[in-house]
Amino acid sequence: MTSRSPTGRALLVVVIVLGLTSLAVRRLPPVVVSKDFGLRPALPERVGDWVGHEILFCQNEQCLKTFDRDELTGRTNCPACGTPLDAWAPGEKALLPSDTRLVRRVYRATGRPAIQVSIVFSGGDQKSIHRPQQCLRGQGLVIEASATLDVPLPRRSPLPVMCLIVRPANRTMRELGVFGYWFIGGGRETPSHLKRLAWMAWDRLIHNRADRWAYVSVYIPEAGSVEAGQALLSGLLRQLVPELESSTPGSPSPPAQPY
Ligand SMILES: [Zn+2]
Repeated sequence: MTSRSPTGRALLVVVIVLGLTSLAVRRLPPVVVSKDFGLRPALPERVGDWVGHEILFCQNEQCLKTFDRDELTGRTNCPACGTPLDAWAPGEKALLPSDTRLVRRVYRATGRPAIQVSIVFSGGDQKSIHRPQQCLRGQGLVIEASATLDVPLPRRSPLPVMCLIVRPANRTMRELGVFGYWFIGGGRETPSHLKRLAWMAWDRLIHNRADRWAYVSVYIPEAGSVEAGQALLSGLLRQLVPELESSTPGSPSPPAQPY
């Protein structure tokens, strides 16, 4: 068995990448841009016992309150501070291109903490999806820990979800939150932002494809404990993911491959 120095390995990688790049450039076919995200473009109104409500965010960064759209009876300003409301949180809106699409609902069930589910569908320039950690800091949250959670799902392999433990930066220590996310695009799914970027580069270079990606996040702001939050997250996703993957309710399409 031969061994190489780190510099030798890095040089080898550079030579391979340059070789593949020149091969790809010589072929010069137009890049195929796929608009198929592999997900339904809407969140269901009900998931088991959970009822999904549309929510609006106060744009005042000192207030940051959220409201159910159906509670506001047509009001477009924050009942607490009077600042205009929007479907985007202020930190997210500042980071994302205007052709980015967002669907979001907060799911409520009697006696259980609320769960906020969002899907960001990338726009034409592929810059719509950032590292989630960047958006969370913009929303005033501190990340205390992170780990990958494999969520068992019916009729397919488990879904790997990045699970962050978060707390509001300026509130009481009791408000422990659980934030889960993963990415889906080009027939692939991954909880890693870096792997997503690597797959995008690979598909563009080798397969001449520029797929749109979607970013799915699930946030439980008052989870109670890490264990309770992760159990809630898994329980909701077990019912929600088959709904998102199916083209029509009740007929699941082939799921993406986890990486
Ligand atoms: Zn407000």
